[in-house]
Amino acid sequence: MKRRPKLGQNFLVDDRARYAIVDALGDISQRTVIEIGPGRGAITEILATRARNLIALELDRDLAPALAQRFAPQSNVQIIEMDILKADLTALVPAGEAADVVGNLPYYITSDILLKLFHTGAAGLLSRAVVMMQREVAERVAATPGVRDYGLLSATAQINARVDNLFTLPPSAFSPPPEVYSTVLRLTFAPRFAELGVDAAGFDRFLKQSFAQKRKTLENNLRAAGYASSDLAALWPASVPSQARAESLSLEAMAELYRSLTQGRKTSN
Ligand code: SAM
Repeated sequence: MKRRPKLGQNFLVDDRARYAIVDALGDISQRTVIEIGPGRGAITEILATRARNLIALELDRDLAPALAQRFAPQSNVQIIEMDILKADLTALVPAGEAADVVGNLPYYITSDILLKLFHTGAAGLLSRAVVMMQREVAERVAATPGVRDYGLLSATAQINARVDNLFTLPPSAFSPPPEVYSTVLRLTFAPRFAELGVDAAGFDRFLKQSFAQKRKTLENNLRAAGYASSDLAALWPASVPSQARAESLSLEAMAELYRSLTQGRKTSN
C-alpha cells in the first residue's frame, strides 16, 4: 500500500506504546472515543475491543476504505474518510455526552488539531485526549510561565485543560522512523474561563494579541493591537510588572490585566 509522507505517516510499531496510549484513557467501556488518523490501525485495533463506540477519522483515501473493510464486522466501530480539520466534532459526539479523543497525530497540523480540540473541549463536548506529537511541541504545550518554551500554545492549552506529560518515544518506535522524538500527552479538559472571571472569546483574542511578537513587551504588543497608551497607563494593575512580557506571566495575572482593561474601557465608554 502507498505511503503518503505528506500526510505525516509514521506508523507506530512499538507494541507496548500502543497499549500504553489506550491504557491512558482509563475505562472506556461506556464511552465514545474519537481517533484522529488511525492509519493502519495500530491503536484502533485495541480501541475497538474496549470502547463502547469508536469513531475514527482518516484522510488517506486508501487507508480509510481498507480500515472500514477490516472493522466492518465490529458494529461499535465507524471509520470515516475525512480531514480532521474539516470535521464537525459536535455532530459526531452523541447528544448529552462528552467524548474522549486519541491520536498519534499527523505532525504537520498538530497545532491546528490542538486548537480545534481546545475549542471543542471548552464547549463541554470532550472529556480528555491522549495525543502523541513531536516532543518539542509537547514541551511547549506543557511549559510553565517564565520558561523558554512557554507561549501562546501553552497558555491556550492550560486555560482549557490540565496537561500531563505521559511518556516519550524514540524514532525507532515508528515505521518509517521520523527525524524527531515523540511525546504522549494527556489533556483533561477543564476550561478555567469562569474561574478566572473572563469571557472565552475575548480572552482568547487578548492572549493572541499579548503573544503576537515574542521580542516585544506585553504593553507594546497591546498597543500594536489597538489599546490606547492612556488606557494602558491608567488601567494597568499594580501587581503586573509594567515591562513584563506575556511569556513570563501566569494565567491569573493575564486574566487580571484583561479584566482591568475591559472593565476600564467599558466604564470610560
Ligand atoms: N494511528 C496510526 C499509528 O499510530 O500508526 C497512524 C499515525 S500517523 C502519525 C498519522 C495518521 O493521520 C496517518 O494515517 C495520516 O494518513 C492521517 N492524517 C493525516 N492528515 C490527516 C487529516 N487532516 N485528517 C485525518 N487524518 C489525517
